[in-house]
Amino acid sequence: MNVAFIGVGAMGAPMAACIARAHHALTLYDSVRERAMQVATAHDCRVADGFDGLAASDFVVTMLPTGQIVRDLYLREGLAQKLRRGVIAIDMSSSDPVGTRELGAALAASGITLVDAPVSGGVPRAVQGTLTIMIGGDDPAAIDRARPLLSAMGDRLFDTGGLGSGHAMKALNNFVAAASFAACAEALLAGQRFGLDPTRMVEILNVSTGRNFHTDLVLREHVVGGKFASGFQLGLLAKDVRIAADLAHDLRLDAPLVRLVSERFETARDALGYTRDHTEAIKAWDNNSAV
Ligand code: NAD
Repeated sequence: MNVAFIGVGAMGAPMAACIARAHHALTLYDSVRERAMQVATAHDCRVADGFDGLAASDFVVTMLPTGQIVRDLYLREGLAQKLRRGVIAIDMSSSDPVGTRELGAALAASGITLVDAPVSGGVPRAVQGTLTIMIGGDDPAAIDRARPLLSAMGDRLFDTGGLGSGHAMKALNNFVAAASFAACAEALLAGQRFGLDPTRMVEILNVSTGRNFHTDLVLREHVVGGKFASGFQLGLLAKDVRIAADLAHDLRLDAPLVRLVSERFETARDALGYTRDHTEAIKAWDNNSAV
């Protein structure tokens, strides 16, 4: 199977490495060519200089910052025209579900089947090949063909329904994660002002009902410990929560929390910058600290 992998950043690089280890014929493409070269050198695969180098692909995996970038790549920059009919395009980015449906319809006109398969688990689980993968698509046969490839990157694969359902699920998951981080940040700031020790707070949260992904795996090292290097950019998380907020809005759901969490992360992103680590949002929310 010839696999093209587009976007070898924080997540894409270790995910592509998993595909290479599973002995698929892999070709990498990234707008920052050096990134693709680094992964290719480490894992003995090819780098395409342009879309012509991806023309023999059976699968095209995208792991790009936004759904808009994925759509532009296929439709505006012309990738769809370079691919053979019958190709399966797998968008593993955290894209917006409405845009994914539009892209699926446009690609179908070129004989390309789109599957959405966003992931959760962050960089550590991308490295281990143990990501959670949420799979949406309208063509069950295409999903079955994609499954062995997805299994190289994740060990918790879930079928979520029609095209875009994986992306909807991913955005809603990240809303829950973002809300829990915002709650943790407020609790730490309030506790600190009251005189509680933040390290002791995290220890107590982790054996109490407040425990969650961030208390367990993120706060100690990246917030209290001051490392602020979880590998997930603030701008990407703000984008995900905005997708969830827009989804709730489009569904006419009264969902004030998702709106508020979206505003909080967008405020932090605008104050600090898109590429800062998402854990640094606490700095923007602490009105005692210099941002
Ligand atoms: P990243 O910024 O580290 O990587 C994105 C890569 O895409 C970069 O190498 C960049 O050069 C490349 N790129 C950007 N535009 C391009 C284009 N037009 N053509 C070719 N290459 C292009 O981002 P990331 O953290 O790897 O995240 C990628 C996606 O995965 C995002 O949608 C993000 O929301 C999602 N995600 C991230 C994490 C995480 O922990 N970092 C976890 C789950 C999901």
